[in-house]
Amino acid sequence: MGFDTKAIHAGEEPDLTGHPSGDVVVPIHLASTFARRDVDEPTGGFEYSRSGNPTRFALEQKLAAIENARFGLAFSSGLAAETTLCLSLLRGGDHVVAFDDLYGGTRRLFSQVFQEQFDIEFSFVDARDPENVKAAIRKNTRLIWLESPTNPLLRLCDIQEIAKIAHEAGALVVVDNTFASPYFQHPIERGADVVVHSTTKYINGHSDSVGGALITSDEDLNKKFRFHQNAAGAILSPFDSFLVSRGIKTLALRMERHEKNALLVAQFLSTHKKVVAVHYPGLASHPQYALARKQMTGFSGMLSFELKGGEAEAKTFLRNLRLFALGESLGGVESLIEHPATMTHASIPYAERQKVGVSDSLVRISVGIENVEDLIADLDQALGSI
Ligand SMILES: *Cc1c(COP(=O)(O)O)cnc(C)c1O
Repeated sequence: MGFDTKAIHAGEEPDLTGHPSGDVVVPIHLASTFARRDVDEPTGGFEYSRSGNPTRFALEQKLAAIENARFGLAFSSGLAAETTLCLSLLRGGDHVVAFDDLYGGTRRLFSQVFQEQFDIEFSFVDARDPENVKAAIRKNTRLIWLESPTNPLLRLCDIQEIAKIAHEAGALVVVDNTFASPYFQHPIERGADVVVHSTTKYINGHSDSVGGALITSDEDLNKKFRFHQNAAGAILSPFDSFLVSRGIKTLALRMERHEKNALLVAQFLSTHKKVVAVHYPGLASHPQYALARKQMTGFSGMLSFELKGGEAEAKTFLRNLRLFALGESLGGVESLIEHPATMTHASIPYAERQKVGVSDSLVRISVGIENVEDLIADLDQALGSI
């Protein structure tokens, strides 16, 4: 079935056999525990809501279906999903190779929790060149951790190429697919073993729920994740599971519009005299445009750009916007804008930021699904104020 069909139906076939109401939408099952028919016989397979909940279970099936994978699990945040993955697969003395341009919270979890407290080593490399990944692999390398496209510079890495290198060395490949969404990229089909999502972003899509997911087609990996989901307990609540299921039903429509708007905004910015660079994988000028076309079916709604000038110009521009909300996060229906140097990436020391290429005039946009002419008019008047 097509993506849009699965997004609506997977996990939510109406139960006309046992359930008296025949709900078309899976209800929000708030019960913390489920009564048994008999001591030996749980009713409907559910016992206690941390271990399994019907609303969450429906979402987990939907998540697997839209990633073209066999298994999905839902967590209380993207970072809870990542923590559970690390608890499931790593132990002290292990080594991980990760893209150096990672979501800041992921990098903090790796460096300040798993490295400092649990003696797991991380090497951060520029994965745009697969040879850098290959060179960093050691005998004890268990995981290769990738994001593509990255935040905030929209860099890509070749998932298929890196998966080949990893598997030859006996390591697993994890791809954080939050920026592309499953509508535009299927890492498991390109050789990744696990996909991670912050469902907070495009998948839920309405900026009203924090959640995460682990998705795989490997039965053994899924067993480990399921065990640790229950053992550590960072599950998604029934109400949030309902919201995310509801969000997924319009993911295809939303992503089409996010992409269409983002391309028009990127084109507008590229021709503006106060803009010196635009980073968007859907522009032919993006250095990895060919790779984007090879491994993605669309370019999503995230872009960043550099203004002529520095921090002062960036702040003047941001203060004069009317429609764009100034905020962190991304992937919601409303457009959001932010200044990485003082907001999302402020915790990274100045020299390190410069090394990666996050300048003081860099601005990141999560392009929403509003009328694009309104968005461009707002950007234009704010650029004029500099
Ligand atoms: C937001 C985000 C995360 C973390 O997810 P939370 O739901 O905020 O815990 C991880 N990876 C990427 C790429 C993100 O954008």
